[in-house]
Amino acid sequence: MVKIGLEFKACLENVKSLRSSGKDFRWFLKFRCSNCGEVTANWQYVTEEMSADLKGGRGQANLVEKCKMCARDNSISIIEDRVQPYTSEDHLKSKVVVGFECRGLEPIDFDLRSGWEVESNSSTKSFSDVDLKDHEWYEYDDIANESISITEFTFKFVKLKK
Ligand SMILES: [Zn+2]
Repeated sequence: MVKIGLEFKACLENVKSLRSSGKDFRWFLKFRCSNCGEVTANWQYVTEEMSADLKGGRGQANLVEKCKMCARDNSISIIEDRVQPYTSEDHLKSKVVVGFECRGLEPIDFDLRSGWEVESNSSTKSFSDVDLKDHEWYEYDDIANESISITEFTFKFVKLKK
C-alpha cells in the first residue's frame, strides 16, 4: 500500500479558505496500474462516501478499479484526516489537501472541475459550487467591497510518509 497526497499551490487574493465540499465531493482522477503500467483512459471519481468490497473479504475501499490490461483489482481510498482546506496561510506555498491510500495503482492526473467552497477573507461571504476547471477563479465580495480571486493554481502528487 502506498499513500499519495495531492498538493495544491495557489495565489489567494482575499480568500480565507478553499475546500472540497464534503464527503460527497468527487475527486476526478486518472490512474496508472502499478502492475502493468496501464493508464485509465477516462476520468474516474472517488468520494469518501463510496464503498466497494475488496476481493476475498479483505475489507472495503472507496473505489475498486479493475485494470483493463492485466485484470488486477486495484483500489483507492481517501484518508479522511488528510482532507484539508487550502487557506490564506498556505498562500503561494504547497499544501496537501487530500491523501489517498492506494493498492495496486497510483493517481497520475487530477481534474479540478467544480464543487469547491470558498470563504472570503472578511468572512462576510462564502461561495459554494465554485468552478476551478480553468485553474483560476474571480469574484467580488460586495459586502467587504473587495475583489477575491484564486490564480496561479498548480497541483502535484507527492508520496506521503505517514
Ligand atoms: Zn494492470
